[in-house]
Amino acid sequence: MFDLEKGMVLLNSGYGMPILGIGCFRLSQSQAEDSVYWALRDGYRLIDTARIYGNEEGVGRGIQRAIDEGICTREEIFVTTKMWTDDFGDGDEAIDASLSRLNLEYIDLMILHHSQPSNDVEVYQAMERAVEAGKLKSVGLSNYYEPEDFDRLVDAATIMPALLQNETHPYHQSTVMKEHIAQYGTVMESWFPLGGRGNTQVLFDDETISSIATEHGKTSAQVILRWHTQMGFVVIPGSKNVNHIKENLDTLDFQLTDTEMAEIAGLDKNIRYYHRTDEQLAQFAGWRPDFEKK
Ligand code: NAD
Repeated sequence: MFDLEKGMVLLNSGYGMPILGIGCFRLSQSQAEDSVYWALRDGYRLIDTARIYGNEEGVGRGIQRAIDEGICTREEIFVTTKMWTDDFGDGDEAIDASLSRLNLEYIDLMILHHSQPSNDVEVYQAMERAVEAGKLKSVGLSNYYEPEDFDRLVDAATIMPALLQNETHPYHQSTVMKEHIAQYGTVMESWFPLGGRGNTQVLFDDETISSIATEHGKTSAQVILRWHTQMGFVVIPGSKNVNHIKENLDTLDFQLTDTEMAEIAGLDKNIRYYHRTDEQLAQFAGWRPDFEKK
């Protein structure tokens, strides 16, 4: 299913998905356009955005630029977007709106951004209808952290989620959920793979990670990204830095040893960086997701 050599995973929907892509959280429209374009130019074929990031149009422009320049075709790339909880009341409209903002005829993977028991089953069914209609190829979930919550949705689903995107990094290794979703053929995808903006240095400076990096002549970021893919996680590091975008892709050509994997396994602290105090959140240029403002 997970092919490290080809850099692809075969999803339970029957579609192939690249195991490493670019994440677009906190990028403006123009930053998203440039970052997506640079990523595709460098060889990335997976892009992750969301309605709530406010940059789907920019992502669409970056893709179009790359296609116009003959860098890739639409069929060669895999585009993920996510539906925000406020839109769960009218999933059909939300899917059409994302398609229109991205300027695409189909979306490779649409994800429900957060568990929302009041109406996530109904909106998941809207995504299933959109698969029938050819608007979506695969459907997935994000931010379901309890097996019972995942099963609540899966029990009502006809199409099994292809993927679960949860906060996952060496300090939060998502072991329970990874094992739980395997029975459905659902793959785990890591968000905040490097700890997320503001936390990355803690992971980069971790003694275990930095000494493994020295051993391989790689950066700590590269070691962490390689750990994700060797764990069987699809990974989508976010960046608007042309050099980091290149560096992050350059992680498919080296191998962490079993001992190194075991050492990193020992770092799990079950810490979610997303859980922050209001003061910490305020440091982040005023960005707060809608659900936290309520
Ligand atoms: P991340 O862990 O990828 O870290 C991003 C930070 O790392 C940025 O500050 C970036 O400048 C820095 N960085 C990237 N590459 C680097 C390198 N090689 N060297 C040094 N620094 C580097 O966090 P993220 O971007 O928030 O998460 C990844 C993606 O996951 C997002 O872009 C988004 O697409 C997705 N995401 C999803 C959810 C969700 O709720 N589903 C939440 C957050 C993020």
